[in-house]
Amino acid sequence: MKRARFQLKVTHMLIRRHLVAAWVLLPAAAVSAGVSITAAWSGDFRSVAVYLAAGMLPVMCGFAFLSVLLHRRTRDTLKLAGDELFSLRKDREQLIKFNASIISIAENLHPSKVLQRVTQELIDLHSADLCLILQFQEHSRSFVTISQYARSKRDIDLDSLNVFLRVLGVSDDSALKPRIIKQGSNETNDRYMDNVFGGAVPWVLMVPMVYQGRSLGVIVIHSDNDGPTDILRTELTRVVAHQAAVALNHAQLFQKAQDEIRKRAETEDELYQIAFHDSLTGLPNRSFFLDRLNRAFGRGKRDEDFFYAVVYFDCDNFKYINDSLGHQAGDEVLCQITDRIKEELRPSDTFARIGGDEFVILFEGLTKTEDVYFVLSRIQKKAVLPMEVMGKELVVSVSIGVALCHSHYSHPQELLRDADIAMYRAKMRSKGSFEIFDKDMRATIVRHMEVESRLRRALEFGELSTVYQPIVDLSTEELAGFEALVRWNSESGDMYPDEFIPVAEKCGLVGRIDRFTMMNALSQLQSWMNQGLVGDRFFLSVNLSSSHFEQKAPSFEWIAEAIEQFGIRPRQLHLEITETSMMKNIHEASSRVKYLKSLGVEVKVDDFGTGYSSLTYLARLNADSIKIDKSFVMNLAHEGNQAIVRSIISLSKDMGMSCVAEGVETAEHLEFLRSLGCQYGQGYFFSKPVPPAQAQLTFFSAKHPPVPG
Ligand code: C2E
Ligand code: MG
Ligand code: MG
Repeated sequence: MKRARFQLKVTHMLIRRHLVAAWVLLPAAAVSAGVSITAAWSGDFRSVAVYLAAGMLPVMCGFAFLSVLLHRRTRDTLKLAGDELFSLRKDREQLIKFNASIISIAENLHPSKVLQRVTQELIDLHSADLCLILQFQEHSRSFVTISQYARSKRDIDLDSLNVFLRVLGVSDDSALKPRIIKQGSNETNDRYMDNVFGGAVPWVLMVPMVYQGRSLGVIVIHSDNDGPTDILRTELTRVVAHQAAVALNHAQLFQKAQDEIRKRAETEDELYQIAFHDSLTGLPNRSFFLDRLNRAFGRGKRDEDFFYAVVYFDCDNFKYINDSLGHQAGDEVLCQITDRIKEELRPSDTFARIGGDEFVILFEGLTKTEDVYFVLSRIQKKAVLPMEVMGKELVVSVSIGVALCHSHYSHPQELLRDADIAMYRAKMRSKGSFEIFDKDMRATIVRHMEVESRLRRALEFGELSTVYQPIVDLSTEELAGFEALVRWNSESGDMYPDEFIPVAEKCGLVGRIDRFTMMNALSQLQSWMNQGLVGDRFFLSVNLSSSHFEQKAPSFEWIAEAIEQFGIRPRQLHLEITETSMMKNIHEASSRVKYLKSLGVEVKVDDFGTGYSSLTYLARLNADSIKIDKSFVMNLAHEGNQAIVRSIISLSKDMGMSCVAEGVETAEHLEFLRSLGCQYGQGYFFSKPVPPAQAQLTFFSAKHPPVPG
């Protein structure tokens, strides 16, 4: 607009100047030309020259005068025009800058920085003191400052400004036009302007930031002096406000998209955590572990120098913790064990929980087998340290099995299986130990597992029975009692106690077997007594397994109850406990023997001679009787065995204990034992263990003497 006005002005001035020149010079030139033409016509060419000179002189003078006159006016006009031109250039430069800012606002997804610059430029544009850009918050329905610039320090009362904007209706989508509020225009406005800006201001410009008919905020500008603002500046500010609104909208959309992406990423993380981790310990689960194992397996197949190992472990007696202290305590134990073991591992090791108390570790990139041993012994030492669980101090050991990578494996799961087998083996050997897998181990363990599952069925379906083997008084050759022994007659063939009793010991089934045999035996004894076949000095020997014997004293109460239930004399029940289990902890063993003896039963040290017990230990046990292990008696041909048997018999006499020789197979054995004064004998020479009906028929019928000769 300014430029058009300026062009009009210059054109007008030039036209005026030429008109003046035409009025003065044209008549003079015309007169001089007319006189000269007349003189030429008459042939007086000298006069022509004179007339022309006379005519041109005033013209020249006129020109000179006019040029002096005109020159000064032109200079003034041109200076004015120049000033205007300069101001126009400034405006133009400012506009160009503004334009750049406007474009950059809308292009920027984080507009706050750009808006900061814009506030400064708006202040320059309006020659103002303060510019605020406020954003409207839907949830609180109030404006917050997103950009602010002031020429001098200012404290804006944002609450009052919010009230003011509400009064003006700026937050309403209907009030979308810029507004200039001048001091003195309205008393209420003046008061608000005072409140907000801390003093009187001549004018305040409020330009809503509108996008698609929605007010997203407002630009507030004011000046302390009565300087400009005009329609052009207001219009420019409106454009800026629109761009800012576009930018804010984009920024909001961008922010929403970012939030959405973040939420999705979080959800994905959560799902991943749930799918591949154990919720209690936070450790990876079986799927995660198998994935890692698959990768290691693949790498091992490609690179024969790549060494890895699978470690399988669980907490010993964890069931006991769960049953006695509750599941919460069990969970606590698992978490504490997890934390302790984590500390011993490298970031490259994969440590996972794959079942109740079952954990696995995948060691990758090891340089030698010994590395595994070092870590495992550290783990075991750490695991076994006392831990406080629900106010109680517990000691939990872990049994560990290891499978090392090997070319014969054709599937990764086989390593896991073998590590599990090795762990089972470690547990059988001694709790809290570790075992490295080898092939023989697999065969044994597989057999054990098979026996265990079959045994459970056997107990359930009544496949067990009791047989009786006579124990003979060697001095009178009379039947003194029987040893009750368990038998397992299964469809798939008989199985002998030497094979299944050790398995039953390990898997905790032996207690049930002991009870079964004891109840059968006592009920049988009661029946024989009721029939008058045996007297009250006749006894039955029943075996008590080592794990059963190693329990605390109260666990024997059922024995007293059984004695009472079947109405036999306690002395008629003999309990056989192997020397090996008694010698494990002599102190505990002697107190248990004492307890059992207090019930009135007789206690025998079974399989004596195999447990390397010292004389002191034997004396402390205070048992009633010794049973010489059959391996010595059956092989009496060896002189060494004769010496052993001789000394055991003499030892028992010295200690005031009775003595039973097992494994009497021949008349020579009988003779030898009798010559040494051994009190009792048991063996195939007298009879193999037989079922109760046969025992009754053989040993209690009138036709057959009680003791074979
Ligand atoms: P044990 O208590 O030492 O029982 C004696 C074992 O020697 C019996 O084997 C018996 O049949 C065998 N035997 C007896 N005389 C001779 C002989 O002259 N020659 C030979 N070669 N063997 C003879 P069995 O019945 O196979 O029992 C083996 C072991 O199983 C028992 O040894 C005992 O430790 C355990 N056992 C058997 N029944 C039970 C039971 O109900 N509970 C527990 N805890 N263990 C039992
Ligand atoms: Mg026995
Ligand atoms: Mg024995």
